[in-house]
Amino acid sequence: MTTPRSAQTLKRRGLLLVLSSPSGAGKTTLSRALLAEDEAITLSVSVTTRPPRPGEVDGRDYHFVDPARFDAMAKGGELLEWALVFGHLYGTPRAPVMAALKAGRDVLFDIDWQGTQQLRQADAKNDLVSIFLLPPSMTELARRLAGRATDSAEVVASRMARAKDEISHWAEYDHVLINDDAAVCLADIRAILTAARLRRRRQEGLVDFVRELMKDQASPST
Ligand code: 5GP
Repeated sequence: MTTPRSAQTLKRRGLLLVLSSPSGAGKTTLSRALLAEDEAITLSVSVTTRPPRPGEVDGRDYHFVDPARFDAMAKGGELLEWALVFGHLYGTPRAPVMAALKAGRDVLFDIDWQGTQQLRQADAKNDLVSIFLLPPSMTELARRLAGRATDSAEVVASRMARAKDEISHWAEYDHVLINDDAAVCLADIRAILTAARLRRRRQEGLVDFVRELMKDQASPST
């Protein structure tokens, strides 16, 4: 019998980890850090009709598409969820998510509250773990948004208005973190992820493991 190093190495179903926050609360930094250190997580790359920002790469940050292509994907059932955010359309391609979950990989989603609500109603709702990130204060959020040089003053102002709207949905999430210190927040996200991965129902390999465990004839002298 092969002994797994820990229950985390047993065969299990993948989970959907949603990270939502108002723009500027540190979601992108935390997502990148999590992806860099955990090979079992795949990032869901969304499609969007928003134009690329400087430095953004098609296929890595988003799949940038025109409204006609987005519409065809939505109508064709190719999107797991989609929403209008800041006047642009954003959606999650279904196929890569399903393939990752089937392979026992976890999928990380950087989507808004509207998308999270739709995932809660989808087939995968039992595999959903949702986290909402709050900024430590609105002053700090404004400071972080103003520091993003790629956005115009008008965009920053509209994002502050949208931030309040996004924050009003905090209570719909399983976990809520205040991102005062990114390192603490990352450790908290890791703890949430570990606990979710170790849930009994998620660990499909446990049945076989325990069956073999019970067959083991070890005595105290061996
Ligand atoms: P940004 O334009 O700053 O990259 O993203 C704007 C907002 O759209 C963010 O709150 C982000 O979480 C959300 N978003 C990005 N991709 C998706 C998606 O596929 N679905 C939904 N519902 N929201 C998304």
